[in-house]
Order: sequence, then structure tokens, then C-alpha cells
Amino acid sequence: MRILVVEDEPQLARHVIRGLARHGHDASVQHDGAAGLQAALDNPPDLVVLDLNLPSLDGLSVLAKLREARCPSRVIILTARGEVEDRVKGLKAGADDYLAKPFSMEELIARIDALGRRGATPSAADRLEVAGLSMDVSNRRVTRAGQAVALSPREFDLLQVLMQEPRRVFSRTELCERVWQRNHEYDTRTVEIFIGRLRKKVDAGFDDALIHTVRGVGYAIRPPGDTAAASPPDETDETAP
Ligand code: CA
Repeated sequence: MRILVVEDEPQLARHVIRGLARHGHDASVQHDGAAGLQAALDNPPDLVVLDLNLPSLDGLSVLAKLREARCPSRVIILTARGEVEDRVKGLKAGADDYLAKPFSMEELIARIDALGRRGATPSAADRLEVAGLSMDVSNRRVTRAGQAVALSPREFDLLQVLMQEPRRVFSRTELCERVWQRNHEYDTRTVEIFIGRLRKKVDAGFDDALIHTVRGVGYAIRPPGDTAAASPPDETDETAP
């Protein structure tokens, strides 16, 4: 995988680059935000490992600009341990995953492998459809009512899991396992944030919402007017526990 590391701490950057190279990745480094952004835009890598606290342009701004420019690279952000706010902000801004510092090389490699696996997993069906929402799995394209829906890689993965089994209710924990390949209660907030992002992109502007919260259980995608699943409108708010 071609990986760009944007990290200003020279020792940590060297350590990460060496570790990635040892695992067969083609890794390069930029030491400040503006240079990292430019490098990613000039030649989008498969993955950007992005520190948040960076000189010249902070990581969240780099991430926002990458997503604004529709840069296809996946992004793992590096956050200080315990900075829940940074993690939430990063995921909302379009990061695919995060890693808390200090982290082990094995942990980073595992996250990278998980991202790679998701992207490469062949689906049983190449085209998924739910009430005018259409997913071309091999080309990783999504349209609703013929209009393109631009999704980040993780958003796509999450939507794919939901669309493979319309009407089935997935718990946050199961979605966490299926999309992020890990199982921590701590991470279920991540699922909520991604569902919120999907709603904005898939359902906003349409009369009928397709993505539903089933209170106390989880989430499902289903066609409008699905009688088995008729639910009061307040069930679709994204903060329901
Ligand atoms: Ca830093």
C-alpha cells in the first residue's frame, strides 16, 4: 500500500516509516500540515496517517481540505490518548479510523490491514439496490435517484453492510466488528457518527429516509412504506440510544 505519513515529530515519523517499510508498504513522510496536504493532493496515496497537532496547518484542516477536494485516500488520524473530542471531530471531518498515541507499530499495522481488507472484500452481489439507492460494489459508486452520492471509504463500507441485508437491524457492536474489525464498547460512538454522516449524504433532501434507528437495538436500511418496519418519525433521530 502507498502510505503518506504526516507527522512533525522526527523520531516518531522515522519509527513509523521504518515499521511500514518492514511490512511491505511504500511509505513517505511530510513533517508539516501544508506540505502533507500538497503531497496528498498531488499524488493521492492509498492511505494518509495524519497527526492532528502539526505545524503550518493542523491535521483537522488538512483532513477537511482533502475531503473537500474529494481526495480518495483513506485517512487514519493520530490523536493524543484520552482526547475523545479530537477523535469525534476527526471522524466527523471524514477520517476512516483513528489511533491514540502512544500506539504500537503492531496496532497501526493491524488497522491498516483492516482498512485494506475491507476495500478488497468482494461482495456476493456486485450491485445492491434499496428503493432507488443503488450501489455499484466493484466500482465503489453510489447513486440515489440517479444522483451521485460521494462517500468516504468507511462510509461506503458501512452502507454496503446495511444494503447487503435490507431490513435487518444491526447492532452498533456488530457494525463496529463488520466495518472496523474491532469490538469495543468505546467505539460504538464511532458507529453513531458514521450513521450521522451517511444520513446527511443519503437521506438529506429526500422525503423518505432509508436509514433508520431502531431504538435500543441499532440501525437498519429499508424501503419507505415497509409495513413490517413502520416506525414513528422520532425513531430516525441519530442520537437515540
Ligand atoms: Ca505532532
